[in-house]
Amino acid sequence: MKVIVSSIQRFCLHDGPGIRTTVFFKGCSLKCPWCSNPENISFNIEEYKENDETKYFGYEISLEKLEEEILKDKKFYDNVGGVTFSGGECLLQFKNIEPLLKKLKEKNVDICIESALNVNSELVDIALKYVDHYYVDIKILDSNTQKLIGANKDIYYNNVEKLLNNNVDVIFRMPLVKGYTYTKQNIKELLVFIEKYKIKKVELFRIHNLGEFKYKLLNKEVTKFESISDEEIVDLKNKIEKLNVDVKIIK
Ligand code: SF4
Repeated sequence: MKVIVSSIQRFCLHDGPGIRTTVFFKGCSLKCPWCSNPENISFNIEEYKENDETKYFGYEISLEKLEEEILKDKKFYDNVGGVTFSGGECLLQFKNIEPLLKKLKEKNVDICIESALNVNSELVDIALKYVDHYYVDIKILDSNTQKLIGANKDIYYNNVEKLLNNNVDVIFRMPLVKGYTYTKQNIKELLVFIEKYKIKKVELFRIHNLGEFKYKLLNKEVTKFESISDEEIVDLKNKIEKLNVDVKIIK
């Protein structure tokens, strides 16, 4: 079995506990216009030109080779750390990589995922067998605006319930994007969501334009967003904290 990854990054410090090796899979079920990894939205290897040279976003890798790459850093994981699967939407690969997940667990490798949970619930069932930590995105909860990114509220809520019913370690992460996630209606729905599911940990972050050059390489349109002020972000933090949630603002 081969899968398509765009990169494998080592010594990551913000993708889960300790030192992580982060694997970025290609392919996503959403299309967020603020995505900082636009090369991971398509499931296919994509060609681009740089200084007249032909280059590619993504490459095929066998599960055996991927395991070898992950285990190269095992000595760093033995204290605190492990592998983090990201993307794109890493859960969309979980049927394909289940044999690898099994082997990693047999070798006591700590597994974390970053997911938007906009996937078939069977994939969440697979994750529940192997994954130790979850970073789950909170994006658009307002049904009217959700279609802008291809999200489905029922699928998301069902998957969130499934995770929380299993008492797993979850941190919810929310990008603050004016006109999308940071709207009056979405903040209202966010506070209801947090109360309904008794969410315990939330991280808020501003979007940045670090991925802009990749949009250009892919001939994709770059969307500009109105920036969010310090006052707005602190005000939202305060509102969420009133619901007994541990809230962090991350860079
Ligand atoms: S879910 Fe994440 S990877 Fe997918 S389009 Fe949105 S920001 Fe990009």
